[in-house]
Amino acid sequence: MKENDINRINGDLNSGKGICLTVLGARGSVPVHGERFHEYGGATTCFLIEAGEQAVFVDAGTGIIAADAEMVAGKEISILLTHPHIDHLAGLPFFAPLSEKERRISVYGTQRGGSSLREQVDALYRPPYWPLGLSAYPSDIEYHTIRYQTISNSDRSEASAETPMLRLGHMEIDGFEVPHPGGCTAYRIRSAGRSIVIATDAELPFPGGRSDAAGQPPDEGADTFDADGFLAFIRGADLMLCDSQYTDAEYAVKKGYGHSTPSVAFAWKEAAGVKELLLVHHDPTHDDEFLDAWERQIGRPDVHFARRGDRRRLI
Ligand SMILES: [Zn+2]
Ligand SMILES: [Zn+2]
Repeated sequence: MKENDINRINGDLNSGKGICLTVLGARGSVPVHGERFHEYGGATTCFLIEAGEQAVFVDAGTGIIAADAEMVAGKEISILLTHPHIDHLAGLPFFAPLSEKERRISVYGTQRGGSSLREQVDALYRPPYWPLGLSAYPSDIEYHTIRYQTISNSDRSEASAETPMLRLGHMEIDGFEVPHPGGCTAYRIRSAGRSIVIATDAELPFPGGRSDAAGQPPDEGADTFDADGFLAFIRGADLMLCDSQYTDAEYAVKKGYGHSTPSVAFAWKEAAGVKELLLVHHDPTHDDEFLDAWERQIGRPDVHFARRGDRRRLI
């Protein structure tokens, strides 16, 4: 890409015409480190989405530690939490802007387990589990509990909600509940006609009622999961990040743990006409060699395992 093109793209992003995703952490369950995990990264879930003045982090796993002050200088910071499992919150106390005096950080998420969003975060970060609450940090954290409606009308050709759940600058954001122990939110983020879906931590059944790899539909949340609504929610997205933690063989013995396989993720991509699929929430036992070989075996130009530092600019 020529420098002029890069300048033009940066200009488009700053004027809110495009959207950019950066993978800061795609590991699932627990961070890992060492040479074997260099390419795909060992940090847990965190994806940065930028459009205009907005810097929106989806989850605050240890990947968020890579977001230094320079990366978010002059930007409005928001964090969308998918759910409060520790691997998605573990990096939050080390997020550099938390230590900037009066820096406003808006955190969004749903009620979970009868606890408000703030109660979920405070439950983890308080003595004796953590030396101080996040409200003691110099920044100004605001918690916003979000609610989203299931798109129950499966006749809709596209999840083009006229009234998005949330607007942040040029971004329009909607949520959808996916099957996972304790529940989890998938997000769809749009800007200037481009859209990114993030569906991490989801034990999805195959679309269209096919049984899963183990021959049984998943248990957790499956009874309330609106498959037609989910199809409408992800339909036509430019990019989808989807939980693909297990091989089919692993899933057969880890059914109910709340995670999917690349086979399931790919089936949803194809069913919904999603253009590109990034597989995320890598199992801690899957090292670079394993993921490289698996990606080659899948052998598709529009399907990859997310790598540390991956960027996608959609203009
Ligand atoms: Zn997770
Ligand atoms: Zn989880």
